[in-house]
Amino acid sequence: MNEQDTLTRKRDETPRAKTFLHEIVEEDNRTGRFGGRVHTRFPPEPNGYLHIGHAQSITVNFWLAQDFGGKCNFRFDDTNPTKEEQEYVDSQLEDVRWLGFDWEDRLFFASDYFEQLYEWAVKLIKDGKAYVDDLDADQIREYRGTLTEPGRESPYRNRSVEENLDLFERMRKGEFPDGAKVLRTKIDMASPNLNMRDPVMYRIRHVEHHRTGNKWCIYPMYDFAHGQCDSIEGITHSICTLEYADHRPLYDWYLDNLGIYHPQQIEVARLNMTYTVMSKRKLLGLVRDGHVRGWDDPRMPTLAAMRRRGYPPEAIRDFCARIGVARSDRTVEIELLEACVRDYLNLHAQRVMAVLRPLRVVLTNYPEGQVEAMTAINNPEDESMGTRQVPFSRVLYIERDDFMENPPKNYYRLAPGREVRLRYAYFIKCEEVIKDAQGNVTELRCSVDMATRGGDAPDGRKVKATLHWVSAAHALDAEVRLYERLFTQPFPENAPDGEDFLSNLNPNSLEVLSGVKVEPFVKGAPVGSRYQFERQGYFCIDPDSTTDKLVFNRTVGLRDTWAKVQQKGG
Ligand code: ATP
Ligand code: MG
Repeated sequence: MNEQDTLTRKRDETPRAKTFLHEIVEEDNRTGRFGGRVHTRFPPEPNGYLHIGHAQSITVNFWLAQDFGGKCNFRFDDTNPTKEEQEYVDSQLEDVRWLGFDWEDRLFFASDYFEQLYEWAVKLIKDGKAYVDDLDADQIREYRGTLTEPGRESPYRNRSVEENLDLFERMRKGEFPDGAKVLRTKIDMASPNLNMRDPVMYRIRHVEHHRTGNKWCIYPMYDFAHGQCDSIEGITHSICTLEYADHRPLYDWYLDNLGIYHPQQIEVARLNMTYTVMSKRKLLGLVRDGHVRGWDDPRMPTLAAMRRRGYPPEAIRDFCARIGVARSDRTVEIELLEACVRDYLNLHAQRVMAVLRPLRVVLTNYPEGQVEAMTAINNPEDESMGTRQVPFSRVLYIERDDFMENPPKNYYRLAPGREVRLRYAYFIKCEEVIKDAQGNVTELRCSVDMATRGGDAPDGRKVKATLHWVSAAHALDAEVRLYERLFTQPFPENAPDGEDFLSNLNPNSLEVLSGVKVEPFVKGAPVGSRYQFERQGYFCIDPDSTTDKLVFNRTVGLRDTWAKVQQKGG
């Protein structure tokens, strides 16, 4: 089998439309610019967990390569050791794999290229195109000028090549403290593009790196590293977000002045989503300050959190395909992502019955000790998923809010003297309401009509509601974690004067229900198993589960809120 076959076999089949990137590649293939090659890369910095914005970047890069029989590399942009950690490396690898993408043997680290980057910096010094500057960070900023004022040249700009070579080597050897010197590119302090005003190439950081340890105490800046890494790897189309458009002249300048293979940088819009913050710095703050339980807290927009919450990778890919690639920044409604999750789970999730807030029901005329097996449909959308047997007995639980002692007019569920259907079982009628000393309803005594087995009355009488239930003696105990949006505002960064996005945190984003009763079918299911709890939504088994107590996260509710958003929008 040739390599092309292997790649075709591994193609992810998520339905997706062509994007403007496909047009760019087609044009390059027509002109033969890259000899028909398509080679992209996903280049995260290991300074946090990957989020839904990264999912977009992952799909854009892997799909573009797949659609043209090309390749996509995984490259860690690990040039800033002060913020980077092995934990983030590990989680990012796991998350991309989980999302369904395979970089095969092409896992790279910018830090693998430090020696080569150093040599290229030396070359620029020798060519008179780089110099060691003693100005500190504040001074460099001040000398840089503004959009309306040209910058001023550093007094160290005209050091000789020999002096620069000597100083740069001594920077590497660790002779100078952090911030004492930097290596800068000699371009143009009057350039209208601030990025071209003698950008910094290397800074001194006496910090241990998660991969190179203490081998280096100088580290390359993103701009000096990124294009050269792309070049080394033979990348053809280097996709980044729009804020790097102003850096493209610098990307090109380094490659041209080093005279090395030259990939094409292409900018695409960043994904923003309502009710969500996407900056890793802000997400780190939420974790560090305990506003959430960790990077994988199901309320977070990280892929680890979505996995834990029960979002299937297929649904996230579908979301990325539906939003496509944009040329200008936009904010996507979170309801669309939820709709993708709901659509997928509707087709694939096993149905079970679970009672979140149980109310005890005793069927007074049902034989003590009798247990019947009722046949229930596993997924009405997918017959091949078959049926299962659900135990039914004299004492059951129903949902507390499926009973009202004094029901208003349009309430059709259980009430004193009223009859309802129990799904897959019998009609029952509420005969008596038992209360505690405080007057709280603690139990219902109901009669069951044994002639209605399977759910219909032979005499044709109708009921207006069908309730879910579980048999008390057979139910599993569970905890359920219900989530609301993490922020109360669709644009959390819009905060009142003097306050930040934290002021928009939703204090009620987590509700924990204990004493939940679940149908025995789920017994022994592995962490991550997903279900529809009938009438309640989609739920997923959390890793906090123990042998005695299951823990479920509510993945998403049943109501299609996306349809509503679309209607509102016109
Ligand atoms: P942050 O500023 O939050 O740290 P970043 O862009 O620096 O984000 P990286 O780890 O460098 O984060 O991102 C890896 C890749 O993912 C980059 O190519 C980046 O353009 C892309 N990316 C990051 N955030 C988004 C987003 N919200 N939408 C689309 N692509 C994104
Ligand atoms: Mg970055």
